[in-house]
Amino acid sequence: MGFKLTDYEAYDFANRRHIGPTTREMADMLKVIGFKKLDELIDDTVPEAIRQKTPLDWGPAMTERDALYHMKEVAKKNKVLTSLIGQGYYGTTTPPVILRNILENPAWYTAYTPYQPEISQGRLEALLNFQTMVSDLTGLDIANASLLDESTAAAEAMTMAKRSAKSKSDIFFVDENCHPQNIAVIQTRAEPLGIEVIVGAPDDLVAEDVFGAIFQYPGTYGHVRDFTDLIENLHDAKALAVVAADPLALALLKSPGEMGADIAIGSTQRFGVPLGYGGPHAAYMATRDAFKRSMPGRIIGVSIDSHGNKAYRLALQTREQHIRREKANSNVCTAQALLAVIASMYAVYHGPDGIKAIAQSVHRKTARLAKGLESLGYKVEPEVFFDTITVNVGPLQGVVMNAAVTGGINLRKIDDDRVGISLDEQTRPETIEAVWRAFGGDMEDDSEKNREYRLPEANLRDSEFLTHPIFHLNRAEAEITRYMRRLADRDLALDRAMIPLGSCTMKLNATIEMIPVTWPEFSNLHPFVPADQAEGYTQMIDDLNDKLCQITGYDAISQQPNSGAQGEYAGLLTIRGYHASRGEGHRNICLIPTSAHGTNPASAQMVGWKVVPVRADENGNIDVADFREKAETHSENLAACMITYPSTHGVFEETVNEVCEVTHKHGGQVYIDGANMNAMVGLSRPGDIGGDVSHLNLHKTFCIPHGGGGPGMGPIGVKAHLAPYLPGHPERAHVMGPVSSAPFGSPSILPVSWAYCLLMGGAGLTQATKVAILNANYIAARLKGAFDTLYTSDHGRVAHECILDTRPVAESAGVTVDDIAKRLIDNGFHAPTMSWPVAGTLMVEPTESEPKAEIDRFCEAMLSIRAEAKDIADGKIDAENNPLKNAPHTVADLVGDWDRPYTRKEACYPPGAFAVDKYWPPVNRVDNAYGDRNLVCTCPPMSDYVDE
Ligand SMILES: *Cc1c(COP(=O)(O)O)cnc(C)c1O
Repeated sequence: MGFKLTDYEAYDFANRRHIGPTTREMADMLKVIGFKKLDELIDDTVPEAIRQKTPLDWGPAMTERDALYHMKEVAKKNKVLTSLIGQGYYGTTTPPVILRNILENPAWYTAYTPYQPEISQGRLEALLNFQTMVSDLTGLDIANASLLDESTAAAEAMTMAKRSAKSKSDIFFVDENCHPQNIAVIQTRAEPLGIEVIVGAPDDLVAEDVFGAIFQYPGTYGHVRDFTDLIENLHDAKALAVVAADPLALALLKSPGEMGADIAIGSTQRFGVPLGYGGPHAAYMATRDAFKRSMPGRIIGVSIDSHGNKAYRLALQTREQHIRREKANSNVCTAQALLAVIASMYAVYHGPDGIKAIAQSVHRKTARLAKGLESLGYKVEPEVFFDTITVNVGPLQGVVMNAAVTGGINLRKIDDDRVGISLDEQTRPETIEAVWRAFGGDMEDDSEKNREYRLPEANLRDSEFLTHPIFHLNRAEAEITRYMRRLADRDLALDRAMIPLGSCTMKLNATIEMIPVTWPEFSNLHPFVPADQAEGYTQMIDDLNDKLCQITGYDAISQQPNSGAQGEYAGLLTIRGYHASRGEGHRNICLIPTSAHGTNPASAQMVGWKVVPVRADENGNIDVADFREKAETHSENLAACMITYPSTHGVFEETVNEVCEVTHKHGGQVYIDGANMNAMVGLSRPGDIGGDVSHLNLHKTFCIPHGGGGPGMGPIGVKAHLAPYLPGHPERAHVMGPVSSAPFGSPSILPVSWAYCLLMGGAGLTQATKVAILNANYIAARLKGAFDTLYTSDHGRVAHECILDTRPVAESAGVTVDDIAKRLIDNGFHAPTMSWPVAGTLMVEPTESEPKAEIDRFCEAMLSIRAEAKDIADGKIDAENNPLKNAPHTVADLVGDWDRPYTRKEACYPPGAFAVDKYWPPVNRVDNAYGDRNLVCTCPPMSDYVDE
């Protein structure tokens, strides 16, 4: 391998952990493809016209030790005070057993979204627990398994109310007691859709004027109010009511459902998920049964497998943006699965009594704090509250706030006179005393004597919650540890096998990248602390952004979007803002190739644009003639095109420059979906080939592990002319509205991507891209003849993924992609991406992190499946009763009667399956249709578990 000396050093010392194949293996793989050198393959694959001119360079790659040292030095510039700022973010204790067994456990954090239910039963159960917890606490029938944050959940609730309400109004009412970031995100979301937002006091709400209203419970300044009458008025006017509720408060307070609410949303952050300077945290949404089909996000449901046994799976998948495109309920794709799992485990760990005890303790501490302040002569508002109080200190505000900081405490500055204080699970007597001192009082906290409650009588909760037995495990550590282990063992994540999902870039990240995430300097910062307490974050984000600019060829980055799809939405808003600033706000046509990811049209719809689809030619490339024609037709109103590069067909299209030129000529802007950046980093830059804006999926290309369906980060890069229109935030100076709750989205996972860049260096990242391309081309070459690659470049090359044409075996043997996907489970693999972007095919993306042996194991599995299909086609085995149709096989299959025309060994140990470390799926093939007909989205009764 002709490495230059510098390359060799970078490879050997810094990124050998990240890049799967060894130098020798690479040479062997290249031979199979027909090349001698890696660079020859790359030159043959990546068109000259789009090649990057200067190599990435930010100094040498760091060793693991140096990177950790450097990151710690930067982290230490964050000052970790006790934040009592509240406003939707609260101190919380992650139970160590959950920290270690979930958050720090690759079996949980490297899993994919549970689309393949048979290998996802563990996380599906945890997410079903989450839904049950949310349903119980909110008093509503059905909950989803997580949205991106509370503010976007509030905005989703607004658009859901618009879809579902019978009222014809275009006005949405927002309680002025909502958290400011919720109000701001709702406003951002409403404007392009033509929804008018009225922010006001609940008593001023005129129900007849609106299609819906949202109330915060408790309010951002601490008020707890019963909304029953207001909700009744809304219902009389055919409008819907949304309540944004704090789940901890709901342990003591009457639920939104009991007040008549139609939708409840909120954040589950304080259920054990660290503050993280704003995220990631799981938001929730719950609703009545009547509205379940218009609910955004993913819903876990209960169904049965082919033997009639209970099995979980994602319900109502046909509602998703993948399928419904611009008619989807929302563009939410990656959500916050890992954080939802943590929150659900917090509920399993504490149980209803524990949660109630925490809520009561938080409340009593707040009551004590209030009483002390009153004894000092301050007027505390409101009179009754849960955990938040407001004190009008007038001209003393600066003095009080500063004294608090000196005492190690952040209070909330509400306006020029008032300060807000929110207590939490972690508040100690010393904290309360320090607050009193900041207000000029020198008292001792007499906790024991003071067990006063100041909750509103009328709102006290008397309904039960978390009644399901899963929330009543024996509280011994042995039981919870084993429960989490059992669930993890049911699943197939990257810690067991390659997950070759095309377009998803399931690379295994280096463990070291996860270490800084849980450092208190990163995890214990409230998102709204003063800037001088977050200098470490600022330095990290600035440095990461610099590198991302260098990688993409853009001039500015916004780290606000919490997923790729959110990045799309934010990017299109940015374009929209730009057009408007030039008096061209009428531009509303978006050209999108038919092969686009479903989030593209769904996002375009969210900014009020009309999607005009562009055809692909027979080679899968954008039909440039069609593109030209449509751009011309819509020249007056062309807002943008959204293209993916390399294309979702896995090819570097030679015509990309032309497509960008045509778009610009007609006054449009070019959005390049950056989900496929893993094929470009170091070789080609979207900013150079004509893109004006792109999102990056840091949870794909930049190593943030997928978490079983989130968290993610979808920062956008833009050219300078768009920079002024990037998302702003009410907590910062801003022109444009925010798209997320927190100014930097989910900053506590940024250390992962930052560490990746530091450890790899520019040369290492470039090498990763080359090896990703090598691995994909190797698979395409090895499977040629058995499963041909559908689309290639003129040279016969693919980019970092390949679409395997499995339709011939469907025709000859009746073997569907589903059958292949399920049989791969027997072989010990997660299936590739199914039927996207081409129906009846499999899209395979190995990533650079897979060693040759694992890729070979996969190829052998695919070849054996091809042979099995041939046996069916040749009539050697029954067309219905065969290993493919019966897959996956469970242990239960083996111990029963065996009347199949193939052996038990053939069933369970096909090529690829490990003899000793065989992965055994816990259920047989799951029946999706049954589950959708009999929708159950909370934990089934214990009687159903008897078999287990
Ligand atoms: C993954 C992906 C997206 C969406 O990203 P999320 O983070 O899941 O929202 C968009 N486009 C393409 C091509 C993708 O592969």
